[in-house]
Parts: sequence; C-alpha cells; structure tokens
Amino acid sequence: MSAERIVKDAQIARRPQNTIDYDGQRYSLHTYYDTYSQGYKGPKEGNCPATVYSPVGIWHHVPGQCQRKGKLECEGYHWCATHYPPNVVARRLAIHARHEAEAERNRLEWDARDKERKMRDAALKAIKQIADGHNDPRGLAMEVLGRKAAEG
Ligand SMILES: [Zn+2]
Repeated sequence: MSAERIVKDAQIARRPQNTIDYDGQRYSLHTYYDTYSQGYKGPKEGNCPATVYSPVGIWHHVPGQCQRKGKLECEGYHWCATHYPPNVVARRLAIHARHEAEAERNRLEWDARDKERKMRDAALKAIKQIADGHNDPRGLAMEVLGRKAAEG
C-alpha cells in the first residue's frame, strides 16, 4: 500500500460524521475536503448543513453547503426551513398523497372508459346481428342494455 493511500485512508477515517437519521431516513450533512488543511470538514457553523448543488446558480453539478441561516433545530443541527427534516418529510408525504390522488383519478377515468368501450362494442355487435336478421332484436337490445325482458 502506497504512502498516499495510507494518508488518504487516515483522512477518510477521521472524516466527521456526515449523516443524521431522522424518522427512518438518512439526511446528509455537507462535508467537503479542505485542500488547505488536507482533511475533511463538516458543515460550516451558522448555516444550514444540507448540501445543495450549484449554490452560485451556475454549474449545476457543483456541491456546496446551503447558504441560508440555520434556524430550526433538529438532531443537533440548525436547518433552514427548506431542509429542516420534518419539513422534508411533510413535503414528501404531500407529494405522495398528490400522486396517489392522481393515480386514483386516472384509475376511475380508465375504468369508466373501459366500461364505455365494452358497451359500445356490445352495441355494435348487436346491430350487426340485427342487420344479419336476428330473430329477437328487442330481446337482444334489452340484453345489451342489461335490462330484464320482463321490464318492458
Ligand atoms: Zn438549507
């Protein structure tokens, strides 16, 4: 093992804890490699510890610490309102509920369409049978409409 690799492994072992667990989910704390002190640094005090991409508004792959002030306390860190874990959970749940409602609406719509299509197909088939000389067109129509013949 090379000397560089040994140094690197020691730095990784000394790296600060960079995640917290809240409500069964893992939230990462911004950690970066400081090229001046040659080691890993945890999130800067005072700011929200979450990592955001492109904190300067360009280069959307560049990670940086959230630049907002930490105001809401959770798991020993102070977060901004966007990255405060309870808010993140609430947002995720709201999105999930919205998607579930949309899926339910779509399911109902497609069920209704399916029913209509079957009805149309049955009606067309009955019309073709009548055109071919069906003996009991009235009974056939009642059957297609799902009524009993006795109802009239
Ligand atoms: Zn934040």
